[in-house]
Amino acid sequence: MSGHVHIVGGGLAGLSAAVELAGGSERVSVYEAGPACGGRARSYLDRQLGCRIDNGNHLLLSGNPAVYRYLGLIGARETLVGPKRPVFPFVDLADRLRWTLDLSRGRVPLWVLSRRRRVPGMRLAELRGLLALMEATPDMVVSDCLQPGSLARRLLEPFAISVLNTMPDTGSAALLGAVVKESLARGGRNCLPRFPAVGLSESFVDPALDHLAVLKAEVRTGSRVSAVEMVDGSVAALHLGNERIALGPEDTVIMAVPAPVASGLLADLPGFSAPDEFESILNVHFLLPQAPVLTGGLALARFIGVVGGISEWVFARDRILSVTVSAANRYATRDLDELAAIIWNEVRAAIDPAATAPLPLAMPPLRIVREKRATFAATVQQDRLRPGTRTMAPNLLLAGDWTATGLPATIEGAIRSGHAAAQAVHARRGTSGRPK
Ligand SMILES: Cc1cc2nc3c(=O)[nH]c(=O)nc-3n(C[C@H](O)[C@H](O)[C@H](O)COP(=O)(O)OP(=O)(O)OC[C@H]3O[C@@H](n4cnc5c(N)ncnc54)[C@H](O)[C@@H]3O)c2cc1C
Repeated sequence: MSGHVHIVGGGLAGLSAAVELAGGSERVSVYEAGPACGGRARSYLDRQLGCRIDNGNHLLLSGNPAVYRYLGLIGARETLVGPKRPVFPFVDLADRLRWTLDLSRGRVPLWVLSRRRRVPGMRLAELRGLLALMEATPDMVVSDCLQPGSLARRLLEPFAISVLNTMPDTGSAALLGAVVKESLARGGRNCLPRFPAVGLSESFVDPALDHLAVLKAEVRTGSRVSAVEMVDGSVAALHLGNERIALGPEDTVIMAVPAPVASGLLADLPGFSAPDEFESILNVHFLLPQAPVLTGGLALARFIGVVGGISEWVFARDRILSVTVSAANRYATRDLDELAAIIWNEVRAAIDPAATAPLPLAMPPLRIVREKRATFAATVQQDRLRPGTRTMAPNLLLAGDWTATGLPATIEGAIRSGHAAAQAVHARRGTSGRPK
């Protein structure tokens, strides 16, 4: 063994780094503060509902390269499912209009020429907004790029809010543009909506832990790193309560904790900066008496985008209907029960016309999960605070969706950041790492 890599944080960034490094020449240890790994992308048994749910609905795309590389390494590619075609059903609650955005599979966007496949009411001139996003400079916000009209109201603004988890008037156009370049601009083949067949942990966490166990990497849950001891500009030791883990000259720390935790642990690190403004996400999970039988685009996709309400996406999984509300700081002062009642009415309006039987009028049992610091606020100013992988300390690397991945805070970004940290370990050591 050439050194010991200590990975602090067992979210997807930390697990990605561990998966890349395990089985190589380094000894690998992961320290996770919580009782289980997965961080902000995890499943758990909800006692109130009596079933397992994800902390929040996560939507991925078939063209997320790092996600599929990671799932390939842990043998879990098949655990992500979704429609065979790049279809996105929508409803506009303002006029109850329903449509299915049906993207062309290849790069040529033939879908924009078909009234049946595109956003109703959109003008072709509005597509300039997409080009403007792809060419945006780091100081531009999303609203600077969009042209007013149906394409913006019914697609690009909701897309911006869910991708950036930040409102278009402050959200970074360049970050959204980076996602557009990797998805829409590369054709529908890269935009197939994907989500875990069973749950986030069953796709991203459990197979990774099995893989790490086989490769003899150590994963310690319930192990919170409470301090980082620095001597002469390098990490000398990690403290986990009373336990002190000393670092040898060949050892490395990958700090893969959320931004506020990193800011606390690394307050004295010269040159360190991190985002310090956050946006929340609200998820409401409704447990139905029985699974709804869905028809049309909704049956194909198993989710629907909602425009003109509080709800943004409704996901149907067996008896659970889960609603996502992004950039939810704007609802922080609203009463949660009142919000849930409004959202249930929106769900009925979105689902009933596409189901063989109407949903119950009365609100079913539910669980509201408000992730207060779901992601950093993807504003122009916050994006500038994101640090790179390397730090001024030669044996300290950073990972996490809040580091400078070039993407908003997403699973794809988190996994890329872990991969980048693993590559930096190899670079430090002069070893080659896994092939791309
Ligand atoms: C509700 C919600 C919905 C989302 N929807 C989507 C989506 O649709 N698509 C998408 O791509 N992304 C989505 N995201 C974003 C995605 O979940 C995150 O970008 C990703 O999970 C971040 O992973 P991470 O490893 O960087 O951070 P985290 O998941 O936060 O992992 C950090 C880990 O460090 C641990 N830790 C903290 N302090 C310590 C310490 N002192 N010592 C040891 N361990 C510590 C934490 O417990 C945690 O497990 C969503 C996020 C939320 C919250």
